[in-house]
Amino acid sequence: MEKILDVQDLKVSFHTYAGEVQAVRGVNFYLNKGETLAIVGESGCGKTVTSKSLMRLLPEPMPAEIKKTSKILFNGKNILDMKESEIRHLRGADISMIFQDPMTSLNPTMTVGKQIAESLIIHKGLSKGEAFEEAVKMLKLVNIPNAEKRAKQYPHEYSGGMRQRAMIAIALACEPKILIADEPTTALDVTIQAQIMDLIKDLQKDLGTAVILVTHDLGVVADVADRIQVMYAGVVIEHGTTDEVFYNPKHPYTWALLQSVPRLETENKDVLYALGGTPPDLIKPPVGCPFAARCEYCMEICKEVMPDATRISDTHGVSCWLQDPLAPKVEVPEVLRK
Ligand code: SF4
Repeated sequence: MEKILDVQDLKVSFHTYAGEVQAVRGVNFYLNKGETLAIVGESGCGKTVTSKSLMRLLPEPMPAEIKKTSKILFNGKNILDMKESEIRHLRGADISMIFQDPMTSLNPTMTVGKQIAESLIIHKGLSKGEAFEEAVKMLKLVNIPNAEKRAKQYPHEYSGGMRQRAMIAIALACEPKILIADEPTTALDVTIQAQIMDLIKDLQKDLGTAVILVTHDLGVVADVADRIQVMYAGVVIEHGTTDEVFYNPKHPYTWALLQSVPRLETENKDVLYALGGTPPDLIKPPVGCPFAARCEYCMEICKEVMPDATRISDTHGVSCWLQDPLAPKVEVPEVLRK
């Protein structure tokens, strides 16, 4: 497999009045051509900051800082060293992003067709007429009915699901190498959610785009992702293939996330597992395991020393003291063994 993206020691902080919030604290991962990587975790775990850093889209003027030692290599070139003009070309042409709420991302004053055509004119040098024809093709590709007519309509004339499809059409118009989808289905109802995920999967197969899927919901990624990385308090606590994370999870936080996914075999189907407590304050992150305060298996060492990543297989790693040979043997919760 050919690596298209290689993120090394990514550290991102926000300078606030209360102090420096260390939102992402030394994250490493890679993305192969054409695969789907899911980044999963609760709100505030650093997954969105990580994905926005890849396009250098961190908010300004709020002082966000990507530390100098961090590297984001796209086809071997460090995005963090690129000039503004190179970054502008990269966004849209090489890496595109779709967001949770298409209504705030689409331009309400422009027809959807023009919004798709715009990036084709800028990045591919097409004429207005050619770009509009391509825009109609893209709308057909994302299954918008009456694409010619719909291309001339404004976002408010689209339903929620159609707006998200239009966002996908804009993001994929220039056939980017990487698509970042940040909670792409959260604002949609369940049936439309499934349709949008299927659409992303099909388009990925047709266009060969690699996808980074950012979500708080492990249930959403089971059918779509090739690999999963679980983040907590700004660090990756477990990563592996989808099978490894679903069928051989090793970290208590991954167990908690998996238990909160609805299962048919759960006895009491009205009650879903909820993890108690809240993530740590990232102005003063804990010195030991960041999950210690919420972990029912916490040992003394967990509070004092951050666990290193233990290699379970070539593709599976976990940061938890339970993997230490001297740690007591702990079984995966029973509900996950069924
Ligand atoms: Fe729990 Fe300790 Fe593992 Fe952290 S290192 S998840 S506190 S057992």
